[in-house]
Amino acid sequence: MTTNLKQALKTHFGFDTFRSKLQEDVVKAVQRGDRDVFVCMPTGAGKSLCYQLPAVLAEGITLVISPLIALIQDQVDHLKELNIPACSINSKLPVSERRLILADLGSSNPKLKLLYITPEMVASPAFQPCLMDLCSRGLLSYLAVDEAHCVSQWGHDFRPDYLKLGELRARLQGVPCLALTATAPKNVQEDIIQSLRLSSPLSFLTPVFRSNLHYDVIFRELLPNPYVHLCAFIKKTLSLGGGSNGQGCGIVYCRTREGCETVAHQLTKLGVVAKPYHAGLKATDRTGVQNEWMQGKVLVIVATISFGMGVDKANVRFVAHWNLAKSLASYYQESGRAGRDGLPSACRTYYSPRDKEQINFLIRQEVARKQEKRGFAKDTDKTAMTDFEAMVSFCEQEGCRHATISKFFGNTAPNCAGACDYCRNPKLVRAQLERAATLSTK
Ligand code: ADP
Ligand code: MG
Ligand code: ZN
Repeated sequence: MTTNLKQALKTHFGFDTFRSKLQEDVVKAVQRGDRDVFVCMPTGAGKSLCYQLPAVLAEGITLVISPLIALIQDQVDHLKELNIPACSINSKLPVSERRLILADLGSSNPKLKLLYITPEMVASPAFQPCLMDLCSRGLLSYLAVDEAHCVSQWGHDFRPDYLKLGELRARLQGVPCLALTATAPKNVQEDIIQSLRLSSPLSFLTPVFRSNLHYDVIFRELLPNPYVHLCAFIKKTLSLGGGSNGQGCGIVYCRTREGCETVAHQLTKLGVVAKPYHAGLKATDRTGVQNEWMQGKVLVIVATISFGMGVDKANVRFVAHWNLAKSLASYYQESGRAGRDGLPSACRTYYSPRDKEQINFLIRQEVARKQEKRGFAKDTDKTAMTDFEAMVSFCEQEGCRHATISKFFGNTAPNCAGACDYCRNPKLVRAQLERAATLSTK
């Protein structure tokens, strides 16, 4: 069966191998068709193939739900290039084309393999009978819900229409359902499984633990000179992955433009050349700084979080957060830019309770602004607060930092083996917390 799958992968998609063991395992589980399947893999990991390959090999039609017509169009075009019969029914489709598709679906032996629709379409009375008809004739092979986090009110891309998918799923008796999303917090995962009414699904999660990343938290207010401390950290970490791989580099994240300017200035003064990067700079200057950093001419960039999206540099030896990230999910993503080459790298947060208060205040303000604009409060207004609290407790807890992150994303606690400050020396972490406590009561 494995050889057949590999053969099909090559024939239909032109790939020699699966992207990962996980991708292969998901495809096999979907193809078995006896269980619902839940997939959490990072963007770019190749989630689409997890339903596209089984869809091609199945007898009937696979119904794919995706949130945006643009996303759907990309996928359909791509499949058509591969000579895989795929199409989409959406509000923009000319009536004549829609008729052709519906005629094919109503025929005894439909040619179509993948049918993409938006969740709005699911509810459309014109489309419902067609769907139920396919189902009763046993011609629906799978129901795939892509970008499944859109069903969660805890997520940031919540789409009310996704909530209707639970009903759809319940009506499509006997059709295995596959839900896919990028790495998501556990509460979002639970929400997806519940809302889509997946029945004890097989879950496939990309492990979030990366053993080459060392995590620690330093209480900034306890330091005689935080800049000197940061400087020493940078010097030490930049010598980490040296040797044959050439000199490494690093990122310091700050919340504000002023913060970037100050930290870059202080570091440079202390002998570590660092350049600021933020939205206040002219676009050409910003690109200039980014290029210098990419080419290794400047080793340290001090940036707001606008920096880093799409930046893929292998030898980032450290990511330091001078200010708290706004959620544990974003912290994982931002700090995860370190050590892509697999070599030891350091992820450090400089924690400050004053910072916490400030960000707390800003988040509340933002929520109030949204409520005012909307005219009423929503349960989901709390989301930003809850997300931030997870980040705060990551810093304030006594426990393995890797375990906290892994559990947050629904993984089991990994074997940290000294890859965080707590596992290396729990007494130091406790001592720091105690000193911080006495400071705050003064
Ligand atoms: P995701 O939805 O997880 O973000 P996609 O499904 O869009 O990822 O796939 C990302 C890219 O990976 C696409 O260009 C896709 O063609 C490619 N890809 C998927 N599977 C494989 C594979 N087995 N080998 C090589 N490339 C692959
Ligand atoms: Mg995708
Ligand atoms: Zn640990």
